[in-house]
Amino acid sequence: MNEVKAFIDNSGEAVIKCPRCHATRVVDVKEYSRLDHIVRFKVTCPCKHVYRVILERREFFRKPVRLTGVCRMREGVPAVDIHIHNLSRKGLRIELMKDDPPAIGDKVTVEFRLDDEKKTLIRKEALVRTLMGRFVGLEFFSIDPYNVYDKALGFYLM
Ligand SMILES: [Zn+2]
Repeated sequence: MNEVKAFIDNSGEAVIKCPRCHATRVVDVKEYSRLDHIVRFKVTCPCKHVYRVILERREFFRKPVRLTGVCRMREGVPAVDIHIHNLSRKGLRIELMKDDPPAIGDKVTVEFRLDDEKKTLIRKEALVRTLMGRFVGLEFFSIDPYNVYDKALGFYLM
């Protein structure tokens, strides 16, 4: 049976797309979004096609944000200003304010403040996963639930 991935958005809904007729529909997945394990369910499309949906786990949920910070790419080179467009427990998508992109696989350090009440500082090492012009997809190098920054991120993304 076909399996399609769906992502939980901010409002607890997921958009699913029929792999046969490509019709999309919005499903309410709030009751699943708090779960930590992978959720699969079956959908019957109006075109009669039956397919299975996998919901992305909560920790991978990407929150659209408008934050600013800096990215340190190499030792001894000044940090580059960045805009952060989305954020998850696993990583973030940034836009560089300077035309000096890193390479895929590079390890960088990002530093930024959340827009919560305390303007919490986050500092994480991350690997460059995707590159599109000035847009860079970063995956955190490590995720440790006891790390102060990971805790703050988890709380922010709840
Ligand atoms: Zn269909």
